[in-house]
Amino acid sequence: MPLYAFRCETCGPFEEWRPLSEYSKPAQCPRCQAGARRVVTPPNLVKTPPEIRKARALEEKSAHEPEVVGGPLPGRPFSRPHSLHSPPWTVSH
Ligand SMILES: [Zn+2]
Repeated sequence: MPLYAFRCETCGPFEEWRPLSEYSKPAQCPRCQAGARRVVTPPNLVKTPPEIRKARALEEKSAHEPEVVGGPLPGRPFSRPHSLHSPPWTVSH
């Protein structure tokens, strides 16, 4: 039985387990018993307020920005210039 997200006009969003046969039927709000409409938002996102989701998205963006702008990555192995590294075939006897 899938978990669906609904929104009550008075109480806000809530989640309810519903059989597939009642997929399109309106749910009843557990608090005020009013009819609630199903929302398309996935159930795991309902509990996260939009402003927090926005802040998280901004954090992620700024965290990734330095890598995109340029410069060597912190964890990147140091690559030596070729002049300091002699390949075996150039060694003279
Ligand atoms: Zn309600």
